[in-house]
Amino acid sequence: MYLKRELNEHLSTFRTSRFPYANKRKNSLRYEVTIGIGGNIGDVKRRFEHLFIYLQRDKRVSIERTSLILKNPPFGYTQQEDFFNSIMILKTNMKAQTFLDYLLGVEKKFGRKRSFKDAPRTLDLDIIFFNNEIINTKTLTIPHHSWSKRESVVIPLASMSI
Ligand code: ADP
Ligand code: MG
Repeated sequence: MYLKRELNEHLSTFRTSRFPYANKRKNSLRYEVTIGIGGNIGDVKRRFEHLFIYLQRDKRVSIERTSLILKNPPFGYTQQEDFFNSIMILKTNMKAQTFLDYLLGVEKKFGRKRSFKDAPRTLDLDIIFFNNEIINTKTLTIPHHSWSKRESVVIPLASMSI
């Protein structure tokens, strides 16, 4: 079940049982991480619900909040289905690089295959912010290099701060 709202001819938002969500309980995990989640193969909204349940069962992370889901057109390689995107705020004791490796493992569990740049995907998990850290290594750029230019990040993120 979900509630759909059209923002314009290209963009729609969806509210489901776990997006948006806010956890009222406090926890003592050290780092706060904002991740962008996305996908455009199969039933992505349903996959997001499964991802939520999967992460909720994992003691290494705690879900603090989620945003609504935004449906938006692809960029880069545009001959593909629209994307569904959302934001999750998690807490964890894992350090940034360890947490990235963890996310890549979760993507794999949810059927992610890498083919070419901007290709269709079942689940993409990107770190947008990691506890106000600035990181620039070969494998990790934080904040995410183009978060502020992407509707897929900015619109769900803005919906959380109201
Ligand atoms: P994209 O998300 O740009 O479509 P991929 O999901 O295929 O690309 O990710 C490719 C690589 O991007 C990852 O293996 C990771 O090393 C690197 N990367 C750099 N910074 C980040 C970040 N902030 N979040 C996620 N991955 C990142
Ligand atoms: Mg990615």
